[in-house]
Amino acid sequence: MSQVQEMGVVLMAISDNQIRFALRLWESLAIGGKWILPNVGVYVKTGETTLTLTELHTNTVIESDQNLFDSHDWIVGLANRVGWVVFDDIQLAHDVDGKPRNIPEYMIGSVAACGNGCGIVIRVEPPTPWVAFEVINDGECPHCKECGFGVEWNGVHVVVDDRSVRTLAQMQIEEE
Ligand SMILES: [Zn+2]
Repeated sequence: MSQVQEMGVVLMAISDNQIRFALRLWESLAIGGKWILPNVGVYVKTGETTLTLTELHTNTVIESDQNLFDSHDWIVGLANRVGWVVFDDIQLAHDVDGKPRNIPEYMIGSVAACGNGCGIVIRVEPPTPWVAFEVINDGECPHCKECGFGVEWNGVHVVVDDRSVRTLAQMQIEEE
């Protein structure tokens, strides 16, 4: 039994057909060639057995009934099963509606807490396929929906951190 088959048994979500399909596709790509995967992004073949995600087209969250080819995580898992490696080097990220994400370089690393004290913290991070981004409009807090952020945040795609909201909620439950 080959290693691929052994691992295929462990990871039941990946079928032999899917592995064959992916391998045929990737092997037929020239180095430097692009594989455009709808709703996920653009992969460039960067080596004999390497792919690099260079454009991200949505935030994908794995749901059990979704087409697994719609997920970057799944592609990474599939590639690993067959000895391929997938890198992320995202140059361009789009929203679900196809608009590029606005993640200004000079703001990467910036954080702010909601001015209404609801506990939400927003952060500017480089685009990655692993976290969901939300856009701030008119200073509106993604959690309490009040105006909680300054004008410099308008139109910027941020990562929303609700850990302290959950901590506050937990503390209230304990106080009651
Ligand atoms: Zn808020």
